[in-house]
Amino acid sequence: MTDKTKYQTQTWAIRGGIDRSDQGEHSELMYLTSSYLFDNAEQAASRFSGEEDGNVYSRYTNPTVKAFEERLALMEGADACVATSSGMAAIMSTCIALLQAGDHIVCSRDVFGSTTVLLNKYLAKMGVETTYVGLTDIDGWKAACRDNTKLFFLESPSNPICEVADIAALSKLSKSIGAYLVVDNCFATPILQKPLLLGADIVIHSATKYIDGQGRCLGGAVLGRQEDMDEVVGFLRSAGPCMSPFNAWVFLKGLETLSVRMRAHCENAENLAVWLQDHPAVEHVFYAGLSNHRGHSLASEQMSAYGGVLSFRVKGGRKEAWKVIDSTELLSHTANLGDAKTTIVHPATTTHGRITDEERAAAGITENLIRIAVGLEHMDDIKADLSIGLDQL
Ligand SMILES: *Cc1c(COP(=O)(O)O)cnc(C)c1O
Repeated sequence: MTDKTKYQTQTWAIRGGIDRSDQGEHSELMYLTSSYLFDNAEQAASRFSGEEDGNVYSRYTNPTVKAFEERLALMEGADACVATSSGMAAIMSTCIALLQAGDHIVCSRDVFGSTTVLLNKYLAKMGVETTYVGLTDIDGWKAACRDNTKLFFLESPSNPICEVADIAALSKLSKSIGAYLVVDNCFATPILQKPLLLGADIVIHSATKYIDGQGRCLGGAVLGRQEDMDEVVGFLRSAGPCMSPFNAWVFLKGLETLSVRMRAHCENAENLAVWLQDHPAVEHVFYAGLSNHRGHSLASEQMSAYGGVLSFRVKGGRKEAWKVIDSTELLSHTANLGDAKTTIVHPATTTHGRITDEERAAAGITENLIRIAVGLEHMDDIKADLSIGLDQL
C-alpha cells in the first residue's frame, strides 16, 4: 500500500495515481472504452466471479477513473476513494449504501440546496428521516441525536456566510453514538482542509467546482475507510452513477494545478473581503479569514487558508443588492463557484430561494446579502466592477 505521508498534498496532486502503459507516455492516458477484452474463456469467468482482478466494464472499473480516485485519496489521506458522476451522486450513493429505512440523519442547516431536497424528498420516502441543526451549535447536534441516528452531514465552511464547524468536536459526538460523520469538503478542497485527519469518517466532493476549476465537467467523489467505500462501490456498480473517463481525465489535470489555484483564490478573496469591509455602502462582510468573523480562530486551526467564497450585506435591502449585481459588467452572474471566473449571485432569491423565510433567517441569508465566489482575475478589475453599483448606493 502507498505510504500516504511520503509526499506533501501538493506533490500527490501532481504525481499520485499514475499507472503508465507500456508506451512510456508522460501525461495520464484517457481510457475511453466502455468494456474490455478477455484473453480466453477462463479469464472471462474468473474476472466475472471476482477471482481475478481486472477490468470488465467501465461501470465497474476504468483505469482513468481509478487514477483520479487514487490521486484524490492520497491528497485527502483516505484509504479509498469512489468517483461518481456528480457531487449529488456522491451524496446519494453514500446515503443509500450506508443507511436503511428507519435510520436518522442529523444535518447542518445551510447545506447545498439539492442536498436538502435529496434528504427531505427522496431519502424521507425511503424511510430515512433528517433533523436540521445550526452548524456551530454543538448542543443542537447533541439534542438532535436519537437511538437510530446513523449519520451526521455537514459542510464547512458553509455557504454563503462561511460558518465554520468544529469537525473534531462533532467527530467525538458522532463516534459516541456510533454514527458516521460525513463532511462535504467541496468549498475547502484537500488543499485547505482534510476532514478525515480531523476525525470525519467520510469526505464528499463535488469535483465540478474547484477540482475542475474551469467549469467544464460534472463529477464527484466519496472518500473514507476501505470497508465503507466497498459498500459505496457496490451501490455504484449496480445503480450506475459512475464518473465518465473523460471527466476523470479533466479532473486529474485539474488536481495538478489545484494548490496554486486555491492559493490564488484565497489571496484574492482575502484582498476583496478587506476592501469590501471598508466600502461605505457595505454593512457587513462574511469571510472566515477576517478576524471579526466568529469562525476565524477555528478556521485558522483546522484550515490552511480560508477559501475563495465570501458574502456581504449591502446597506439597504433586495433593491440595493440587485442593483450591485445588475451593474456588474465583468463578473459572471451565475450560481456556480470554484471557477477561474469570479461569480456573483443573490442567495435569497436563487440558491436559497426555495427554503422558508424562517430557514433563511436562521441561515443569515438576508435580502441585502450578495455572494461572490472569487476567481483568478486581477482584483483591481473586480473591485472596479463592483464599484459601479456600490458607488451608486
Ligand atoms: C455543487 C455542490 C454540490 C453538488 O455537486 P454537483 O457536482 O453539482 O452535483 C454538493 N455540495 C456542495 C457544497 C456544492 O457546492
